[in-house]
Amino acid sequence: MAHGPVQDWREGARKMASRVIPVDVFDLVIFGGTGDLARRKILPGLYRRFRAGQMPRDARIIGAARSELDDAGYRALVAEAVREHLEPEKRDEESLAAFLETVHYVTVDARGDAGWKELCALIREGTVHAFYFSVAPSLFGDLAERLRAHRLADGKARIVVEKPFGHDLESARELNRTLARHFDESQIYRIDHYLGKETVQNLMAVRFSNILFEPLWNAQYVDHIQITVAETVGVAGRGEYYDKAGALRDMVQNHMMQLLCLIAMEPPYRFDPDAVRDEKLKVIRALKPLTARDIVRGQYDAGPGIPSYREDVGNPDSFTETFVAMKVEVSNWRWEGTPFYIRTGKRLKARASEIAVVFREPPHAIFGQPRDGQGNVLVIRLQPNEGINLWVRIKEPGPGGMRLVEVPLDMSFAEALGPAAAEVPEAYERLIMDVIRGNQTLFMRGDEVEAAWAWIDPLIADCESCGEPPILYEPGSWGPEESAMLMHREGRRWREIRE
Ligand code: NAD
Repeated sequence: MAHGPVQDWREGARKMASRVIPVDVFDLVIFGGTGDLARRKILPGLYRRFRAGQMPRDARIIGAARSELDDAGYRALVAEAVREHLEPEKRDEESLAAFLETVHYVTVDARGDAGWKELCALIREGTVHAFYFSVAPSLFGDLAERLRAHRLADGKARIVVEKPFGHDLESARELNRTLARHFDESQIYRIDHYLGKETVQNLMAVRFSNILFEPLWNAQYVDHIQITVAETVGVAGRGEYYDKAGALRDMVQNHMMQLLCLIAMEPPYRFDPDAVRDEKLKVIRALKPLTARDIVRGQYDAGPGIPSYREDVGNPDSFTETFVAMKVEVSNWRWEGTPFYIRTGKRLKARASEIAVVFREPPHAIFGQPRDGQGNVLVIRLQPNEGINLWVRIKEPGPGGMRLVEVPLDMSFAEALGPAAAEVPEAYERLIMDVIRGNQTLFMRGDEVEAAWAWIDPLIADCESCGEPPILYEPGSWGPEESAMLMHREGRRWREIRE
């Protein structure tokens, strides 16, 4: 292949992708270290950082949970988790054996005194120590309290808190108050793993390091924005939690609002944790209130060989929504008149998350081109195939006259990087390394979480009190027909999304 600027760029990008800057030596305690999240995401992620040379060999990973295990037993569990959840090309037995030497285990009771002395003995004075709360949210307060009581909540300590962060404004406030009794805000890392995705950060890079997009990034040039988070799975296995939560709490209050914030926020004065989070907070505060009548709520029905949601959760009367679609408006100077349409659901046609920024049509069509509002679209794809595409209209090649065709300009890494794309850290890996580095930019601040609840609480209360059941939809569809109508009414349509 001939060398040129593009080829040079690709080589540069490949080198960058494999460049790792090791973090300082740390002790990381995973409360709930035998649980599902630890086995699927946290432990395989740490191994990947170890194998890449980012996690130092003298770091310590300390599993802490209720099961009676010793170091050897836990190492066997960790090895099994790595083998089960990482493809063969992402692991090798030699580095896995070296990784396991960093792994320890203590049996600890978050609600009692058992195990805490042993835990204290494993944590080295002077090293960064992080405590990952990968346990049920009802234990977060107990853990914070015991860390303080055992003098582990010192200035070197950081805590990582999983979702859900409360189930409404009051419970989120209470949790913030409890954590604040024992830790400073600068020590609290509230995880939203969507923020750890490569493309989400690339979105900020594209917006704020190019002159090309920002001048157009407003109501004058953006017709509307679509945010879709679609899953093909149902709720089996998580039914008990989900039936009390629903899509509004489980997806919209956190992941979707975070994505909306990153699209809508003003440029922060610096890429600094508080500067970024201040701007996100302003967006949440500018959201127009919604009522149950403004949104589409759906629930998946049974399909051939597929149980209905109500069967999945064993609650024949459940009114819990597994799908929502809504038009959200940001009341500020930049966005007045540009709607944000968001939709999320389970048992939909494809597993895909994407954001589409749909630009307005040029003021005058000199080529007589169709004015279907799909000419220029910036598509930010979070999964699968993370990447960013900018759709532009060009002339269809050939002698057929001036016919126009829409083509994507591919800004995604995957194609440029080739096999090196597999080295790009996944969300959890990146976020845990940020905790060790002490960088909170990609974590939610307490006031952000409260503001998000303050906006969504009245909407949830209205949905619960209106007495209307969610609309049933066919599994494998794009949700209730009313979701398409929400767009059609305003002369718009959801973009076709494929896996
Ligand atoms: P899990 O039920 O699989 O594991 C719970 C862990 O907590 C186990 O290791 C158990 O030993 C430990 N534990 C329970 N009671 C304890 C006590 N009294 N003292 C010490 N340890 C105790 O849960 P999970 O699915 O791994 O979820 C953990 C957290 O992560 C939850 O807050 C959940 O909401 C959140 N989360 C999980 C996922 C996921 O995919 N599993 C995704 C997002 C968020």
